[in-house]
Amino acid sequence: MLNIVIFGAPGSGKGTQSDNLIKPYGLFHISTGDVLRDHIKRGTELGTTAKAYIDKGQLIPDELMIGILASVLDDNADKASKGVIFDGFPRTIAQAEALEKMLKERNPGVSAVVGLEVPEDELVERLIKRGKESGRSDDNLETIKGRLQVYHSQTSPLQDFYKQKGLYKAIKGTGSIDGIFADIKAAVDAVL
Ligand code: AMP
Repeated sequence: MLNIVIFGAPGSGKGTQSDNLIKPYGLFHISTGDVLRDHIKRGTELGTTAKAYIDKGQLIPDELMIGILASVLDDNADKASKGVIFDGFPRTIAQAEALEKMLKERNPGVSAVVGLEVPEDELVERLIKRGKESGRSDDNLETIKGRLQVYHSQTSPLQDFYKQKGLYKAIKGTGSIDGIFADIKAAVDAVL
């Protein structure tokens, strides 16, 4: 079983590279951003709560987010039998600790954390472009700046958290999508 955390700032390419990883390794993809946007689209109570945070570029509170992830894992236990790509989760130390606990209860822990490293000016450029193409409500300059601040203060400490566990694989997240994927594949194959 292979459990991959795909890690990086907003705009670092986590979604794109998760899509590439699904097929060759038979993994189940969980994007917490997509899960929340689906709730918003369906007009659920959770969607209403999530929208208020997302539109401000803030993180959904840990307790709520951890509960959502646990239920997605439980509801998809069959599809996740070969392993999971966690995309957009964990985003805080509390979430990483909760993930460790959840995986211990269900199956072997995190196999590798693939960290996509992209310079800040390129992240901003990519997110503005995505906002124009997809119309995502949080891809506007003001919210992007807030999300990057949140990334630096709350999420990037996870790099050290996972480095200390020997799980962090730094990947240069610039250049061609295929070239980046080749580097990711080499890093993942090394832990198989
Ligand atoms: P993403 O699509 O991963 O960029 O996520 C979009 C937004 O959803 C984030 O800016 C947060 O507001 C929220 N979100 C997604 N994943 C998480 C998480 N693990 N913890 C807290 N908030 C999250």
